[in-house]
Amino acid sequence: MKTGDPSSPNKYFGMYLMSESIDKPFNADGAKKMDSIAKGPFAPIYPIIADQIMDVCKITSGSCIDLGCGPAHLAIAVARVSDLAIDAVDSSPDMLTIATENIKEAGLSGCVRVVNGDVHALPYEDSSVDIIISRGSLFFWNDLNKAFLEIYRVLRPNGRTFIGGGFGTDALKEEIFRKMRSIDPKWEKNAEKRLKMQQSDKIPKALEAAGVADYEIRRDLAGFWIIMRK
Ligand code: SAM
Repeated sequence: MKTGDPSSPNKYFGMYLMSESIDKPFNADGAKKMDSIAKGPFAPIYPIIADQIMDVCKITSGSCIDLGCGPAHLAIAVARVSDLAIDAVDSSPDMLTIATENIKEAGLSGCVRVVNGDVHALPYEDSSVDIIISRGSLFFWNDLNKAFLEIYRVLRPNGRTFIGGGFGTDALKEEIFRKMRSIDPKWEKNAEKRLKMQQSDKIPKALEAAGVADYEIRRDLAGFWIIMRK
């Protein structure tokens, strides 16, 4: 596992540029890059976000989907602080190959399983999932209306979502941005694109078009999170 050297991030991550770049497909190389960054500068954020999910959603057992799970670091962190049965869902088979290894290495194969699926056509029954979480994936979804329609369809009554992007705490966010700026020439530009999307009315409009009557958009918790309630 590459853990990086904070004094010289380029030394370890220089070859793993642009993993969260908006324009990067999640093929085998992209998946390796994402995993490297998730195990490096992003590593501390996942347990913090898992705690935030538990505090905000207050659902600690039942079924959970991590949408666009990537290498499954958030799914793993949530499994460690809950009794949820988690499906780590991603449309990229290459991401899921790495996710499978990470879940096995964490000793969590019994409670986290990988599922190849697309947010625009989720392979789940109506009203069947207690909590749907997702970090850093919605920026890549082609059709937000369709995605939210699907998410709301599979969410169980009294279910919650925690969907968006975030870095745990303001201090961690600052530190990660500093490191990522030095290793990814596109980081700044893509961070701006993500911020623009978060601030536009595109997301509330898509939620309303999908018939999500009860939702909240939280811009605290060092991130941007959509909490739907059904
Ligand atoms: N959630 C992980 C994390 O925070 O470490 C990975 C984030 S990565 C930046 C975005 C992930 O979303 C990728 O693994 C990508 O394959 C997945 N993704 C993009 N579009 C998707 C879609 N339409 N359906 C399912 N997954 C998708």
